[in-house]
Order: sequence, then C-alpha cells, then structure tokens
Amino acid sequence: RSGAVSVAPILTNLQKDCATSLPVLSHVADAMAADMRAGLAADGGSNLKMILSYVDSLPSGNEKGLFYALDLGGTNFRVLRVQLGGKEERVIATEFEQVSISQELMFGTSEQLFDFIASGLAKFAQKEGGKFHLPSGRMREIGFTFSFPVKQLSIDSGMLIKWTKGFAVSGTAGKDVVACLNEAMERLGLEMRVSALVNDTVGTLAGARYWDDDVMVAVILGTGTNACYVERNDAIPKQTGHASASGRTIVNTEWGAFSNGLPLTVYDREMDAASINPGEQIFEKTISGMYLGEIVRRVLLKMTEEGDLFGKSVPVKLSNPFILRTPDLCAMQQDSSADLQTVGSILYSVVGLESNFSARRIVVDVCDTIVKRGGRLAGAGIVGILQKMEEDSRGLIFGKRTVVAMDGGLYENYPQYRRYLQDAVTELLGTEISKNVVIEHSKDGSGIGAALLAASNSKYE
Ligand code: ADP
Repeated sequence: RSGAVSVAPILTNLQKDCATSLPVLSHVADAMAADMRAGLAADGGSNLKMILSYVDSLPSGNEKGLFYALDLGGTNFRVLRVQLGGKEERVIATEFEQVSISQELMFGTSEQLFDFIASGLAKFAQKEGGKFHLPSGRMREIGFTFSFPVKQLSIDSGMLIKWTKGFAVSGTAGKDVVACLNEAMERLGLEMRVSALVNDTVGTLAGARYWDDDVMVAVILGTGTNACYVERNDAIPKQTGHASASGRTIVNTEWGAFSNGLPLTVYDREMDAASINPGEQIFEKTISGMYLGEIVRRVLLKMTEEGDLFGKSVPVKLSNPFILRTPDLCAMQQDSSADLQTVGSILYSVVGLESNFSARRIVVDVCDTIVKRGGRLAGAGIVGILQKMEEDSRGLIFGKRTVVAMDGGLYENYPQYRRYLQDAVTELLGTEISKNVVIEHSKDGSGIGAALLAASNSKYE
C-alpha cells in the first residue's frame, strides 16, 4: 500500500465530520440566537453569559478634549492618549507606549501589579505636551480596557471573577479592579481617574462606531474569540433598574462558551479533554487561533501512527502539544510552488516530518478542512447575532447597511479563514441581504475606543 492510500480514510472521515453544509450553519446561527435570548433572560440561563457592559452612550464623533486609555489583557499593558477635536477635527493626535509585565508581577500581589501599572501611567502622563491639552480644573480621565472575566457593576466598576492567560496575582479576585487601580494611583499621588471600564470587544465596537454610525457588532478573532453588539434595553429581561437615555446597551456575549450543534471530531474531543478547561469554551476551541494548529497536529499524529505516509516512525516533536501553530498552517496554505516546498520545510522544521509531494498535498487538505470549518462557523455565529437583532427590530438590521467590526490576528492574517467566514455569511443571508451586511476590519480600534468611552462617559459633561 502506498502511504497516501493508507491515510486517505482518515482525511475522508475528517472532512465528513467537519462538514459545514448550509443546514449545519443555519442550525448553528439559530442556536446562537436562542442561547443569546436565554442568557439575556436570566444570569446562568445559557452558556452565553451576555454580560451587560453599562455602555449606553456610544461615541458620536462630537467628543472633544484629552483622554487616556489603559489596556491590560496579556503580557503587555498599553497606555495611550488622544486629543479629540469634535466632528470636524476628529483625532487631532495620539501617542502610545507599551510596557511588558514581568513573570514576577504575574505571580505577585495585587498591590505590586497595580502599583507597577500606575507608575507606568504616571511616567507616560509626565511626557504629555505638544498637541495635548487638558483644560484647567480637570482630572485626566481614563478608559480602562481589562480583558479578563469581570462582573461589571457600573460603567466605572467591575469585580474580577478570576485571572486567566497565565496571571496568578494574589488578592485581586472578588475585588473591583477600578478601585485597585485608583488606590494605586492615590498611593503615587497621581491625579487621574477611570471613567469607563471596558472589555476589549466593547472597545473595538466603540472605536469603529466613532467613524461609522452603522457599526452594530464587534468580533475579535485572535488567540481567543469574543463578540459584542448593541442591544435594546427592552430586550434584556434580566436588566433591572437601569434606564439609559439612549435605550440601548452594549452586551458582551462571551460567545467563546457557545457549544450548540457544532460539528466536532474525535480530535476536538481529545484536545478538549487534555485542556486546562475541559468542557468549556468549545466554540473558541473550534474557531480561534490558539487551537487551529493544535487540531491539525492531532490529525497529523494520527496519520503518522496509522499509515506510513511520513515514514515509519513518529517524530518526537509531533507529539508535543501546541507545537504546530496557526501561523504555520497559514504559511503552508499560501504555498503556491509546484512541489509545495514551503509545506515540506515547515513540516520538517516544526514537527520533524519528512514528506513527499502526496503527503504535502494531504497536509494542505487537512489544514484547509480545519480552517474552513473554523471560518464558516465564525460566520454562522455572526449571522446568529444579526438574526437575533433583526427578530427584535424588523428591517433595522437586514433592511439597511449594518457593519460588523472585526479585529484580531487570526482574521487579520489568514486570508482563507477570512474568505470562508464571508462565504458562510453570504450563503446564510442570501446575496440580496448580505449586500447590506458589511464585515470590516477595524485594526487596533479598541485602544482609541476605550478613550472615546472615557469621553462619552466623562464626569464633566
Ligand atoms: P491576542 O488575541 O493574543 O490578543 P492578536 O489579536 O494579535 O492577539 O491575535 C494573535 C493570534 O492571531 C495568534 O495567537 C494566532 O493564532 C493568530 N495569528 C497571528 N499571526 C497569524 C498569521 N500570520 N496567520 C494566521 N494566524 C495568525
């Protein structure tokens, strides 16, 4: 038997299990809409947390003045200032700095971490000058993007549920992270205050909305994934006693936790079982950048064990979880050379596989199968959100231009993924309606978005 013949059934089964026919996609979109409703009805009513952001005034373009943003969501924090000039002048100037957070701080105390952040802010604020100007008698206001699970309590307070992404800081869980930052700023004598605490998807929506009034949804597709959208207050039964002038609130879906009706394979189940959060974040594990490479690695491992396509023995490297990364899949899928040379060299250098041409072709098919499923399911999720909004406001979503703002390294860098996502949206909505739905890349909008939310929630207006 030739190697290609012996692994062919593995590829065929994979393609069958990952198939995202129109009925499958449409079932996923319906289930997303239904889970959203259940999560809006009651806390704990659904896989989807549907967290209220308390952001009910979106940027209008009229914002004026100097505002700061602070972004903490990973191993770096970013500080940014922006001078806003209103409708005509818009963004007059921006400046930002990035500071890395040491391993020591990630495992330290809450005071140590927030003191470090406050001192970074202080140093940055000291360099203010040039086009940046604060009216006298005002404190500098900050939009704080904090991308860890938070129970939001108001626009400017929220309790940390737990640290994630490798942070193990003691003494923050259960506390208001804005109070933690404010106390650190006070210890330093730094006169700044947080006017808005926002999730990164919410910042992205606000940043995109500043330029385009039709933005209704924001989606992040990077290492992980999440989505938020503009909801009507009267469609949020669980919201009690919070009236807003606009009648609208941004809802953070935390859609990574969705799991209904997804076409999953034995490789997904095994990856989930071996993960640090088994049974959780199933949608995220199927569509986001952290996992696509790992799913492919598991398929290649199976092919190497069962067939002789890649030679007789299993390379040690190939057994190493997460060694094959999504950017590697992307690079292999861009290979247009006749002998798939890049595919061959990535397979050899990253996972230690020797490959002939037919093996390389099969690997490209495996990558395409996993990436196609991911992109198409992400598209179905987006349609689910739009469908839910349209059901509550007939004609106001599908009957006019509606923009979905996208950000994140996966969406930005993976052309095939982007195309599959768009294809699914078009198939689900049909050509006519899909002309009204514009999926737009909004790069790094979340920083400016947070500063804009500090402006629209300013204590001085
Ligand atoms: P994060 O989500 O970690 O905050 P990004 O939005 O920049 O940051 O996303 C980074 C992720 O994007 C990576 O983990 C990877 O999965 C994906 N990614 C980055 N570069 C590429 C690439 N060239 N091709 C495909 N995916 C990429």
